[in-house]
Amino acid sequence: MSMVAELIRTCARWALDFALPPRCAGCGTIVEEVHSFCPECWKQIEFLGDGGCTVCGLPLQATEVDTCAACLAKPPRVARARAAVAYGELSRNLAIRLKYGRKVAIARTMARYMAPLVDRSGDERILVPVPLHRTRLWRRGFNQSALVARELSRRLDIAANPFLLRRLKRTPPLKGMSPLQRRKTVAGAFAVRHKAAVAGKTVILVDDVLTTGSTAEACARTLKRAGAARVELVSWARVVKPSQLMR
Ligand SMILES: [Zn+2]
Ligand SMILES: [Zn+2]
Repeated sequence: MSMVAELIRTCARWALDFALPPRCAGCGTIVEEVHSFCPECWKQIEFLGDGGCTVCGLPLQATEVDTCAACLAKPPRVARARAAVAYGELSRNLAIRLKYGRKVAIARTMARYMAPLVDRSGDERILVPVPLHRTRLWRRGFNQSALVARELSRRLDIAANPFLLRRLKRTPPLKGMSPLQRRKTVAGAFAVRHKAAVAGKTVILVDDVLTTGSTAEACARTLKRAGAARVELVSWARVVKPSQLMR
């Protein structure tokens, strides 16, 4: 397609965005507020909030004060991890639609609920999306986490840099692997492009779905080696085992 046709198409899409009433990000019914959910979808979403362990964000046991036993025993490299919602049918659908549909409206909805979970204290902060391997990026044309990072950057007025981290290895899905296998698989998978851009800063990793945390830990390791002072993470959805919510 020519540049002009592409431009016209983009403009038309913008015009539609302004002209049409806001729709629920979950099911598409018309809602009153932009980038929100209808009452039916709202009921299906489990918002995780900012409580729980100060480090990993998971619910605490009665005997734990503010940090869970696991984080005390072995502090993760990601010093603060938060997710907006529990991974479920609706949150998964949203993540999939963002991944394959490049829907900016979905990125905005996610960012709306992720933004309050980002710690804004201190000034040397930078948002960095978890990168895709270039072969995947070429095929898809965009990185869904970079879209979310851009929207978060707008909301929070924190700079975002989608090119700072690079994925060197294409990694298979980590689901079903043992913790050791996962660590081995993601070891050396990432590299920092501009060390000067992370030196002394707090890097906030942005991801769409947080599963085992191994990928984020591998990113954090690379970032800290490059001189980052601290690494945090904010994601849209998190896979939470029922036992973790019950405790
Ligand atoms: Zn809905
Ligand atoms: Zn913890």
